[in-house]
Amino acid sequence: MEYYLHFINRFPDIQSLAKSSLDEVLKAWQGLGYYTRARNLHATAQYIYYQMNGRFPENYEELIQLKGIGDYTASAIASFAFGKPVAVMDGNVQRVISRMNGINTPVNTTRGKKLIKKEAEKLLPSQNTALHNQAMIEFGATQCIPRNPKCINCPLNQICYAFHHNMVEELPVKRKNKTKRLRYFYYLTIQKNGHLFFQKRAENDIWNSLYQFPLIESDRELEIQEITDSKEWNEIFNKLTPSIKKISNTYTHLLTHQKIYACFVEIKISSANNFLLNNYTLIEKNKIQNLAVPRLIEKYLEEKI
Ligand code: SF4
Repeated sequence: MEYYLHFINRFPDIQSLAKSSLDEVLKAWQGLGYYTRARNLHATAQYIYYQMNGRFPENYEELIQLKGIGDYTASAIASFAFGKPVAVMDGNVQRVISRMNGINTPVNTTRGKKLIKKEAEKLLPSQNTALHNQAMIEFGATQCIPRNPKCINCPLNQICYAFHHNMVEELPVKRKNKTKRLRYFYYLTIQKNGHLFFQKRAENDIWNSLYQFPLIESDRELEIQEITDSKEWNEIFNKLTPSIKKISNTYTHLLTHQKIYACFVEIKISSANNFLLNNYTLIEKNKIQNLAVPRLIEKYLEEKI
């Protein structure tokens, strides 16, 4: 909540968000997770402010075109903010509709979502659709709950497929998510005269545009000897002979489809080579707090620097 309020106070409207740099937005987002959301919010704010003269779209069809806005958010904004007659589908609503109609297509597949949405749309009243949508969500959250739903006193049990066919515990069906990808990050915290080397993460991966220490990544755990023998280590240090001061404990960081194990290898050097100077930025220790960094690095910095 604290992080959220900080972000909302810093960017109270589309204009302030649109006129800020991505670095400022990512820094203010730090701690809120899912950095893609911050990037999308920023891009969408700029699009609305500069391309649409600040007019916020009101229809589902326009909203769904915006970066970072999917079916749920587009429907929720159209319904709750603008009173449009669209069905809002969250996990609660999916569960209710799946049980009521005996739909066994997995709710986390495109086909399942479409089927359920179609049924939900049939239930929309001609007016007060926002109230109806909120009632559907609330019904799933309080009555038709995931485990042991309150079927006996449910006002819909006469027409509920799952209740009549003894399938309440089986529905909704969910397709198992892919197993998590394991990644091992070895961050090199290279100190030189009270400064540390940083680089911006590249695109097409997690945490893009956030700052990090020089990184050696592996898909398995490495011994220190393997790190110092690696191609990346030799590329980074070339002819330098760095001294390793300390290796941190392992930090674990969970993302939706990934699990990251990170270690920080503390290194001191007295002079830098061209590779370091060309590929990394030297940041003074007391200015590091201004950088937008992944929560994982922030935690390390809070403890160490
Ligand atoms: S009868 Fe049970 S499963 Fe059916 S809608 Fe009511 S609470 Fe949900």
